[in-house]
Order: sequence, then C-alpha cells, then structure tokens
Amino acid sequence: MADTHNKTTERSPGETIAPRLRFAPSPTGHLHVGGARTALYNWLYARGRGGSFVLRIEDTDLARSTDESIRQIISSLVWLGLDWDEGPGVGGDHGPYRQTERMHIYEETVKALLASGKAYRCYCSPDELEHEREKARAAGQPLVYGGRCRALSPEEEQSLQTEGRDAVIRLRTPDTGSTIVPDLIKGDVEFENVNIGDFIIVRSSGVPTYNFAVAVDDASMGITHVIRGDDHLPNTPRQLMLFEAMGKKPPAYGHLSLILGPDRTPLSKRHGASSIEEFISRGYVREALCNYLALMGWSLDGETTFFSMDEMVEKFSLERVGSTAAAFDNDKLLWMNGHYIREMEENELAKRIELFLQDTELAALHGHAGTPTISALVPLVQEKMKTLADFVDYTDFFFLPLVFEEKALVKLEKDEKAAAVLAAAQNVIESVEPYDAETLDAALRAAAERMEIKLGKFLQPIRIAVSGKTITPGMFETLAMLGREISAARLDAAIKLLSPS
Ligand code: GLU
Repeated sequence: MADTHNKTTERSPGETIAPRLRFAPSPTGHLHVGGARTALYNWLYARGRGGSFVLRIEDTDLARSTDESIRQIISSLVWLGLDWDEGPGVGGDHGPYRQTERMHIYEETVKALLASGKAYRCYCSPDELEHEREKARAAGQPLVYGGRCRALSPEEEQSLQTEGRDAVIRLRTPDTGSTIVPDLIKGDVEFENVNIGDFIIVRSSGVPTYNFAVAVDDASMGITHVIRGDDHLPNTPRQLMLFEAMGKKPPAYGHLSLILGPDRTPLSKRHGASSIEEFISRGYVREALCNYLALMGWSLDGETTFFSMDEMVEKFSLERVGSTAAAFDNDKLLWMNGHYIREMEENELAKRIELFLQDTELAALHGHAGTPTISALVPLVQEKMKTLADFVDYTDFFFLPLVFEEKALVKLEKDEKAAAVLAAAQNVIESVEPYDAETLDAALRAAAERMEIKLGKFLQPIRIAVSGKTITPGMFETLAMLGREISAARLDAAIKLLSPS
C-alpha cells in the first residue's frame, strides 16, 4: 500500500505541469487567520510558479453552511488581495465550484466505485455499530468498522433493503499495512491501515462525506498541490486511498502547523481578534496582515521581516515553511501595521482611511462646513498612526464639538500656570500673521521663553483646550488646521472654564 502511494505522488524528473492549487473553505463562519494563512500560502505558491489558484466552497455540511458566510469569506479574500482564477464569480473549466452543486459528479464517481467493488453499501444500524464499537473497546481493538457488510450477496442486500434499512456507502480499504503521506513540510507520515477501516463516503441521506467530496474534487479539478492545516493530516491517508480507488494521481500534500495564541493554545476568539473581518474593523491594512501571516510558518532567511506581495510571490517556497506551530503575536502585528501605514503614499493612506470611515458619522463631516479633508489631515497623523482607527482618535476634535477626556480635564485644572499660558496663547493666535504652522511655531516658542516655561509644558494646556485630549498631532499644525477662529474660541472657552466668574 505504502509503496503504491509513494509512486503515485512522485513526479517524473523534469515534469513541468503548471501547478493548480485551491483554497477550499467550509462556509460555516468567518475567515479566520488560520484559513487566511492557508489561502495565502496556496495563492503565493500558485502565483510564484505560473500556476492557477482555485476557490472551492465546501458546503456539504448543510446544517452549518450559510450563504452569509460565503459572502464574508469572499469579501475577506478580496480585501486580502488573494484573487482566484477559477471559482465563484469567476467561473472556469472545472466548475461548478460549490460542492452542493457538484452532487451529480459525486454520484457518478460512487456508481463507478460500487460497480468495480471498490465501495459497497453498508446496512448496519447505528445501534449495531455502537454495539460493535463497545466490543472493540472492551477488547482493546481499533474502533473502526468491522466489515460486516463487506461481502453481502445480492440476495442478502435485497432482504436488508426489504427490511427498510438505510444504507451508507463505504470504501473498501486494506486491513493491513500502512499508508504513507509524503508530506512536503513534515516529511513522510505513516498511518496504520488497521486504524482507518472502511470509512463512509456517502451518508444514508445521499450527501457525500467531507473526505469523499474533497478527493473527487481535487481529482476532477486537477489539483496538483494541497496546502492546508495539519488538523486535516489524519484525513489525508483516507483521501490517498480514494485517489487510488479512483485510479487518479493524488496531489502533493503539505500540512501547516496550527497557529497558536500567546499562551500556546490554538488561536481562537479567546485571544482577541481572530477573523479577518475583525482585523479590518480594527483598522489593519492588508499589506501588514499578509506580511504577518506569511511569517506565521514561513521565513526567507530567519531575518528579513518586511515583504511586499510581489516579493513574497517571488520568494515563497514550501522548503522554507517550518513544521513547528507559530504563536500569534498581536503586538508584532500592530507594529508591522504601523510600519506599513507610515510607508504608504499619503494619497493611498487617505483613500484607505476614507474606506475605513465609510458610513460613520465622521465620514460625513470631513471636508464639509469648513472642516479639513482627510487628505489634509494625513500628513499630521501618519507618523503616529498604528491602525486606521487611530486616525479617528487623533482627529475627531476637528469635526466634532469639543469633548474633554477626563484625565485631560484634570490635568488642565491642576496646571497652575494654565490660565496664564492660555491667555498668552490667545494673544498669539489672535495676532500672528500669517496664520500658519511655521509662524505659530515661532511665536508660541517666543511666548514660552518669555514666560520661562519649557515648550512641552507650555503647549500642554493649549493642546487640551483645543482638542480635549493629552495626545494630538503636532500642536502648531493642529492650530493652523483648526483655523484662527475655532482655536481662539476654544482657548477662550477653556480660560472661562478655569476662572468662572
Ligand atoms: N473545507 C475544509 C476546511 O474548511 C478544508 C478542506 C481541505 O483543504 O482539504 O477545513
């Protein structure tokens, strides 16, 4: 068995078929970082080798699959920039690309497997199977199907059918020997066939099982490489058996280690954001997420950290994918996001922010009624932003009525020199000509010197008075952008607040 499988996965020397890879999500929820990394690796492998990337929706779990989830997964993939050559919305020569629309293909394959005796109908009831399992458990034997229906005569089948029994269809598998998965990442992984047993390929409802649908689809779609999470590794010997039964050449497999949370348990919601949608809504940019996910298991040289998509396409290889589980580090991702935001062209960043703010109250206010545009504000905040959401925190006071953060107000009220500083600043703001950042800079510096207060300390009450916050973009640029009138009015209000008459 093992030998046969090894042979079928070998590629003859010099063989140059263009690779065909696929991402095959089950639409039972959002696209999580683990799935996104799988999609990315398949996409990178295909794009770097002139191959094709196929998107296939695996919705045979009828109870848990939803159209909404398909929509969400697709929109996350589009956002990540992982385009597909064949699949939903694109079409292709190997469609349909949704498993529930491929039932006729599974039916045909099953018919052929039944006709050749490679599969058979099993009429055992759930009670009988449970009884068999109990016996096996007691005897310390593997809990696999014992093969009661393996050799039913047509008459026996007929009488079981007359009894009204439902049938599943099982694949006939070897009782002895082992099946080797020649894994591109983990090396050869051996599975004892005795632990596999004749597994079900079609349920009594007529719906194919996961393993069967995947093997049929990978075969009929001409998939050459399957890169997926190692939670699927135990499925792979079963899929190899199916390929053998169908007389088809299996793809090469590579199984990726799980992504762990910082506490080294499998990454999940408990660890914070774990779906791509959540990262989008927190203001992450695709460049950072793709770069970070690429490094969750792959490295070029153990040193290089930043890769553009093009560089990743050029450099990605399975040889450099490690077999140990990678831990997700939110701080590193955030840091990487800040890097990509700082590196971005101002125009591009403004566009991303605009998209991010779409449908929010703030989006409606930008550039209206004399307020600054997003583009005008970008130079003030780009260096400070780590996420697109930071833009809101740094700039909302340009658009919204002033609201004091509590700690800012306390600071202002405790600052003994605040009233005098605000009065001095008020003078500068009312008189400086021209009213721009450079002139404000010189004039406010001079005022601070005259009062013998360090510039940072001098600017703090002004900052709080005009923004309500202790952290803002550069003060001179902020005052210039707010305009003379609003700056003066806010200083005035703060002066009044500090000395109620
Ligand atoms: N549909 C499976 C999942 O979402 C993936 C199957 C595969 O990659 O073979 O886990």
